[in-house]
Amino acid sequence: MLLKDLINGLSSLIFPPVCKSCNKRIDSNIDIICNECWNRLVRVDKEIFLQKEIPENINKVYAIFQFDDLFQKIIHALKYQGNSSIGVELGKRMSIYVEPEMVNIERGIFVPVPLHPIKYRERGYNQAEAIARGLSIGLYIPLNTRLIKRVKNTSTQTKLNAEERRKNMESAFVIDSNSDIVEIKQVVLVDDVFTTGSTMNSAAKVLKEAGINKVVGLAAATPAQENHKTP
Ligand SMILES: [Zn+2]
Repeated sequence: MLLKDLINGLSSLIFPPVCKSCNKRIDSNIDIICNECWNRLVRVDKEIFLQKEIPENINKVYAIFQFDDLFQKIIHALKYQGNSSIGVELGKRMSIYVEPEMVNIERGIFVPVPLHPIKYRERGYNQAEAIARGLSIGLYIPLNTRLIKRVKNTSTQTKLNAEERRKNMESAFVIDSNSDIVEIKQVVLVDDVFTTGSTMNSAAKVLKEAGINKVVGLAAATPAQENHKTP
């Protein structure tokens, strides 16, 4: 046994692992959110979601779960407590519910909405990339994490309205000059939360300008009401 395993074993005896969402004990050193919590996530009501305004550069948007208190706890543990594996698990669970038409995307790839390098260094990982990784594993669709770069370090959009969000995200992304875009026909942009779509729209714009025909958005969650606070 490695010393690291021994220390992990001892620390889980003294501090038994608990679910980051409900604080119940988990009998595993790997899981961070318990199964009951994962299974309590509520699917988005498709009829309501389809009434949302979709920004001009995105062909279609899918959101899987409702941004409720439970989702908020899970996403908080993913984004602010260093648990990138939650994103991978979330992506795998999303892949079960993704529409069949999305699974059939031809010569398509998953592209996570990138973080600005400063934010990436602070967090140590990109939560959207972790989610996209889980989706890629679940659906056997390739993942490309280098196609676009974020060049504008935007502040939090929580207090901004739709128009302010759009302005805030303008010119936030560029195509990475090293990437080979010719072979790509369709991109599925992956993000954690879809609110007004300003972030996805800005990323989709540079992809469209680079000649990609179809850009579809896929978010882990979306708020049921417009006024629900999102990150
Ligand atoms: Zn739990």
